[in-house]
Amino acid sequence: EPTQPSHFVRRHIQEDNASGRFGGKVVTRFPPEPNGFLHIGHAKSVCLNFGMALEFGGHCNLRFDDTNPIKEEAAYVESIKKDVRWLGFDWGDKEYYASDNFQQLYDWAVQLIEAGKAYVEDLNADEIREYRGTLSEPGKDSPHRNRTVEENLDLFARMKQGEFDTGAKVLRAKIDMASGNLTLRDPVLYRILKAPHHRTGDAWHIYPMYDWAHGQSDSIEGVTHSICTLEFEDHRPLYDWCLDALDVHHPRQIEFARLNLTHTVLSKRKLLQLVKEGYVDGWDDPRMPTVSGLRRRGYTPESIRDFCERIGVAKSNSTVELGLLEFCLREQLNFIATRVMAVLHPLKVVITNYPEGQVEELQAENNPEDAAAGHRTVPFSRELYIEQEDFMEDPPKKFFRLAPGREVRLKHAYIIKCEEVVKNDKGQVVELRCTYDPETKSGQAADGRKVKGTLHWVSAPHAYDAEVRLYNHLFVHEDPDDIEIPASINPDSLEVLKDCKLESSLKEAKVGDRFQFLRMGYFVVDSKYSQPGRPVFSRTVPLRDTWAK
Ligand code: ATP
Ligand code: MG
Ligand code: MG
Repeated sequence: EPTQPSHFVRRHIQEDNASGRFGGKVVTRFPPEPNGFLHIGHAKSVCLNFGMALEFGGHCNLRFDDTNPIKEEAAYVESIKKDVRWLGFDWGDKEYYASDNFQQLYDWAVQLIEAGKAYVEDLNADEIREYRGTLSEPGKDSPHRNRTVEENLDLFARMKQGEFDTGAKVLRAKIDMASGNLTLRDPVLYRILKAPHHRTGDAWHIYPMYDWAHGQSDSIEGVTHSICTLEFEDHRPLYDWCLDALDVHHPRQIEFARLNLTHTVLSKRKLLQLVKEGYVDGWDDPRMPTVSGLRRRGYTPESIRDFCERIGVAKSNSTVELGLLEFCLREQLNFIATRVMAVLHPLKVVITNYPEGQVEELQAENNPEDAAAGHRTVPFSRELYIEQEDFMEDPPKKFFRLAPGREVRLKHAYIIKCEEVVKNDKGQVVELRCTYDPETKSGQAADGRKVKGTLHWVSAPHAYDAEVRLYNHLFVHEDPDDIEIPASINPDSLEVLKDCKLESSLKEAKVGDRFQFLRMGYFVVDSKYSQPGRPVFSRTVPLRDTWAK
């Protein structure tokens, strides 16, 4: 484990522990809105919130911020729980829903009205915006700002009972129409929405806004440190105002910079668009930056946590290279992935001096990085496949692979020499006729002469004919948020290879199993397209960062 660089969130918690502000307790929360699947940006927030709680011996709540029934679904709740668990975090029985607080939030709103700190507004959204003013000019008071407490109580109760149409009225906090912080110019606390909620059904016709629901939910749950992203910095005075007005437990809001990644969109709106319009095969498409997409792509939870640790926590927004995420993954896969041989673009090789019908079971090391991984046997026979790109008829000097008259070593096997090139009537190379040197078997005492190139190969009669899927970035541009979908989408982000020749042991591979295909990258058995006994492989990541400039 790398030593953790310290950061301001940790320092704030340490300060509060030292001053006894929360009696030494640390309670955080991860508060997703169930309106989509979690993505790598959420993973950063998960790691930070659960990480701080674990580090300080506290706990982290999983809170569903389910205050907008129009976009939320129970299926998203389930996917979020699965993903947080998969990332390696446990919220125990600390599972909360903002919607469970609807009655309390309503009662508190009534309390605000009674204290003269909130009023019912009839202006529509455009008018409210106009009256709010701008940073350079103060706002104007709404004509409804000075309604009496009685009138406000009556109207608010009737809003709740469903007497008014969606959008007809809102409840606003009465704060300061001249504030230098626009958020404090009488923010909206409640709106009318005639929409059923996935948990509360038809019970409510009004729903609290984020600013009214979030801080109070933090308070109800006994949260001590409410960690959120930078765009809520302007909302902090409002967060504090609400809790002060109610005189209830008052957590500390701390903001950090959200994660942005090159070649990646992280807005749920855009991710939903990719799914809905069919640019990907679902929220868990291996090209998606969702936690479920990364899982299907072959990412490990450890590598994602490592990434979140390395990028750290900052107070100003920046964009992280996607290559760093891939680096963290390779670091781990190098230790855990079984090495196998797979030929993605096959070229037939016949060993003319190898006896017909003979099969040798060669010993192959499963992982040179892990002695405990052991060995397996790999069949060798007269007919093999090698990679098309490992042969050149007229090679440059530095081409250390196969060419007419040249020798290479076959991994775990023998040195072979290319004697003859067979072409079809279009002049394409379709087969190589080679000889092998029986004295050069890998691992033998007389290992023979040195040759520069070592190729992977697969025995033709034993090969498992498989589909292999190769992925590229979904977006070619470094900052795809600058361009609209679909113009921003890489038309070549998926390459499906239909007749790859894989080492026979791979036929037994199970969904989620991870391998290094020698020289070709790390691969995983895909959960969507595999059939029992017919695994389909997806490339998780190439062996080297081919995108680095
Ligand atoms: P979107 O803008 O895509 O709708 P969101 O922030 O509204 O995302 P939420 O479900 O509200 O999505 O997010 C849950 C938590 O995850 C919040 O605390 C939010 O700040 C955090 N979060 C979301 N996106 C990122 C990101 N890119 N980097 C770090 N934290 C994030
Ligand atoms: Mg959102
Ligand atoms: Mg949000």
